[in-house]
Amino acid sequence: MSKVIGLIGGMSWESTAEYYRLINQFTRDRLGGLHSARCVLYSVDFAEIEQLQTAGRWDKAGDILASAARALERAGAELLVLCTNTMHKVAGHITAAVGVPLLHLADTTAEAVRAAGLHHVGLLGTAFTMEQAFYRDHLAATGLRVTVPGTASRALVHQVIYEELCLGDVREESRRAYQDVIGELVAHGAQGVILGCTEIELLIGAEHSPVPVFPTTRLHAWAAVDAALRTD
Ligand code: GLU
Repeated sequence: MSKVIGLIGGMSWESTAEYYRLINQFTRDRLGGLHSARCVLYSVDFAEIEQLQTAGRWDKAGDILASAARALERAGAELLVLCTNTMHKVAGHITAAVGVPLLHLADTTAEAVRAAGLHHVGLLGTAFTMEQAFYRDHLAATGLRVTVPGTASRALVHQVIYEELCLGDVREESRRAYQDVIGELVAHGAQGVILGCTEIELLIGAEHSPVPVFPTTRLHAWAAVDAALRTD
């Protein structure tokens, strides 16, 4: 029987809905018929988390996610998936609170980039993910070179995430603006681009980029199903 996947979601629910759809789709693809994923979802109020992010109160946000993780473990989760790149800043806080493994999104992403044979990638995400060390260093520790956009482009990418994509608002003009930012990353040598925010793939697909893109929601959902179906 497959392991129970515990999803810490709601950040935002627009991308968590994609996680739910994809883990079920991948499970059916792997097992066929009417098979679907055994999973439990704890969905937080993103407004509360966003306020703590902006205030720099990461410890408090970590407490909230750690108690969500504990609740998932009590509900039978055998592995945990944190459905946001940004909140991996508090991954250590979560893993310290539970006895079940957390499938770290930066590990999953780095593995996909390496499997594609690339070593220099651009990173798009929230300002926290692009500017702080927690995610970039995790990627760099696997031997990848990581380039982020310039200041103005980072502000644009961040704003589109919080003011549009997390609200389910997908705009053509923002897609074009993101394509310009991808062009900037490619001009700086990026061989591929990590869509390092779980909502970005609602806006950008492979067809919108001259280099391969790495959609983190999709990659993470695939890795979760793979881990859930492993029998070791
Ligand atoms: N879902 C986003 C991410 O992957 C941003 C929302 C958040 O701050 O958690 O980083």
